[in-house]
Amino acid sequence: MYTPGDNPQLTGRFAPSPTGPLHMGSLLSALASFLDIKQRGGQWFVRLDDLDPPRQDPAADTQIIASLNVHGLIGDRHNSPDIDYQSDHQIRYAAALSRVQSHLFYCNCSRRSLAGKRIYPGTCRERTAWQTDCAVRLRVDDAEVVFQDELQGSYTYNMASELGDFIVQRRDGLWAYNFAAAVDDGQDVTHVLRGEDLLHVTAQQIYVMQLLELEPPQYAHLPVLCFADGTKLSKQTHAPALNNQNPSVNLRTALLYLGQNPPVEPAWTVSRWLEWGLSNWRMDRIPKRLESYAEST
Ligand code: GLU
Repeated sequence: MYTPGDNPQLTGRFAPSPTGPLHMGSLLSALASFLDIKQRGGQWFVRLDDLDPPRQDPAADTQIIASLNVHGLIGDRHNSPDIDYQSDHQIRYAAALSRVQSHLFYCNCSRRSLAGKRIYPGTCRERTAWQTDCAVRLRVDDAEVVFQDELQGSYTYNMASELGDFIVQRRDGLWAYNFAAAVDDGQDVTHVLRGEDLLHVTAQQIYVMQLLELEPPQYAHLPVLCFADGTKLSKQTHAPALNNQNPSVNLRTALLYLGQNPPVEPAWTVSRWLEWGLSNWRMDRIPKRLESYAEST
């Protein structure tokens, strides 16, 4: 049951940033992406988005991997330790950047000069020759990106009027998440299932893939898990870490939030829950809005 099924070319992934331990919200994304791709007969892997050392917690990658392991969420790629680290892809990103060179410019606008502007005003667009101490921005065309999200429906964005030129490499030399995620997902990921908080960056990621002639995946964005006051569970909002002593309870709780109607089976093991999830997973049961997070569950 843990090996790829009859469609090994279908690939899904869970891509946490190592900024802290997993919480129930992250488990929903991990579990949903795992069950969905496995049910399609595809393979699943974990990619650690570790490209932003200043924001990372050095203990988090070990915590995340341990937590996924106790919940039975183990990737199918047989490299050791079976985790894909974005920090290992520097050459891939540099090659991708050079392929879009004719769309790049070097931006030294300060944060303050851009404050309050929703769309980049184009100030540095003419700076197309490489310069130090600048962010690298991608100049977007007056083009539409259209995608059909499996859970959220159809979206159309005009890149120029709705999103604007965006950063692909930061002034400090670090790769921007949108660029790195697009380059990586465009390699071989066919299905991206993640939180709705990332819906708004999807068009930029597809745009990068289109420029690079990579095939964009099918997207599905899950409603996000929130506290009763409506704030999203995250490290910033002090979402409690998953209790790794209770993985079966956590998996059942996650299935419940995801609208899958899990049975009450206090004695079931992790693998029994995953088997049940695989046989019963239905994307159309995921509610439009999730129940608020209650810590006791
Ligand atoms: N690493 C990103 C995050 O944790 C998610 C990446 C993705 O699923 O595209 O927010």
